[in-house]
Amino acid sequence: MAAMGGGTGLVELTDEQQAIVETVREFVDKEVIPVADELEHRDEFPEKIVAGMKELGLFGLTVPEEYGGAGLDLMTYALAGVELSRGWMSLSGILNTHFMAVYLLKQHGSDEQKRKWLPRMATGELRAALSMSEPGAGSDVQAIQCRASRDGDDYVVNGTKMWVTNGLRAGLVVLLCKTDPQADPPYKGMSVLYVEKEPEARTFQGISIPPNLEKMGYHGVETTELVFEDHRVPAANLLGKEGDGFRQIMDGIEVGRVNVSARAVGLATRAFEEAIRYAQERHAFGKPIAQHQMIQEKIADMGTKLEAAKLMLMQAAKKKSAGARSDLEAGMAKYFCTEMCHEIVTDALRIHGGYGYSTEYTIERLYRDAPFLLIGEGTSEIQKIVIARQLLERHKVQG
Ligand SMILES: Cc1cc2nc3c(=O)[nH]c(=O)nc-3n(C[C@H](O)[C@H](O)[C@H](O)COP(=O)(O)OP(=O)(O)OC[C@H]3O[C@@H](n4cnc5c(N)ncnc54)[C@H](O)[C@@H]3O)c2cc1C
Repeated sequence: MAAMGGGTGLVELTDEQQAIVETVREFVDKEVIPVADELEHRDEFPEKIVAGMKELGLFGLTVPEEYGGAGLDLMTYALAGVELSRGWMSLSGILNTHFMAVYLLKQHGSDEQKRKWLPRMATGELRAALSMSEPGAGSDVQAIQCRASRDGDDYVVNGTKMWVTNGLRAGLVVLLCKTDPQADPPYKGMSVLYVEKEPEARTFQGISIPPNLEKMGYHGVETTELVFEDHRVPAANLLGKEGDGFRQIMDGIEVGRVNVSARAVGLATRAFEEAIRYAQERHAFGKPIAQHQMIQEKIADMGTKLEAAKLMLMQAAKKKSAGARSDLEAGMAKYFCTEMCHEIVTDALRIHGGYGYSTEYTIERLYRDAPFLLIGEGTSEIQKIVIARQLLERHKVQG
């Protein structure tokens, strides 16, 4: 057993987890870090890196062995997410929706659905997106409008989805829609369909994908709209039963929140590494800036926050790995890790002075990537609502 890299020793990893961390770290140091800045600036999909990720078996990490995957737990996935994001956060974005799709299939899918999709998902040949958000509804998930109406053996889907990460290249989209728009409360009329489509096609049997959304950061991985016009989905692609969709997605989103926490830890780790090196190389007033007390204060704050975030991440991953719903732990980890990441990246940029603002330095990229983490998989405000609700429930005063 070993502690999480550079950590306090409080969180112990199994030998297998440690081996995976080391393999991914080596891959990132060799194949990702030398090219990430350039690819990110060009907003180019990292074909070669993704091919390497497939070879390493990362797409099948949590797919059960009987379907060709490694059958590992969420903790291992989170650790891999930290390492990948230390290299480039977008790589973890390529995996995240895929993992949520795998998780939801494992939890709620029929045997037939598992047999149909999981073997190709394990190799990465089939990659998945997950689509909840719409132009008029993000945090307020129950306000979505996308409609699936039953017609014989099919559902007919109409509506516009927004912010679909991996929307173009995915061959499978986990779609949250309304099968009963009149339901009261609305969540009871929501369902999940697994939509199959042609990867990379801008139009496919009633699905059209406008040009990719232009983003501040999180480049390389595409985020798109998906427009459905009378697109037919076989009823056999319904996950579980009608009306279960909201509950299923909330279960899956906890996996996403653990992933975003892992991304925040990875990104912050890199920002810390860049800053602590720069602080020792850059001189001002006759000495390395690391010798100035106010820079030391930043280094102390950054290092302490990072260690705390790792522990929050590990706790949330452990709880969710055990299969339990974990609104509180996943919400706290997502909230804390992403806010601390934003603070660390900001301090790291300040330590770089003017060079931090230059596109020649990696910190500029990290600074543009970090704000996304405050928003995706539920904003900080939404996490605080989830956390407070759970705490009040657990500490209810009787009478
Ligand atoms: C780059 C990127 C990639 C994304 N990828 C995906 C994806 O793959 N799949 C997907 O489904 N979605 C995706 N999203 C969407 C993301 O999940 C939403 O943007 C997010 O949930 C927030 O929703 P919204 O943008 O509609 O903001 P809104 O819900 O309109 O919120 C606006 C502001 O109001 C606040 N707010 C809202 N409700 C409350 C409340 N009750 N109390 C206090 N404050 C509140 C929010 O915190 C926020 O500050 C992505 C977003 C981005 C930017």
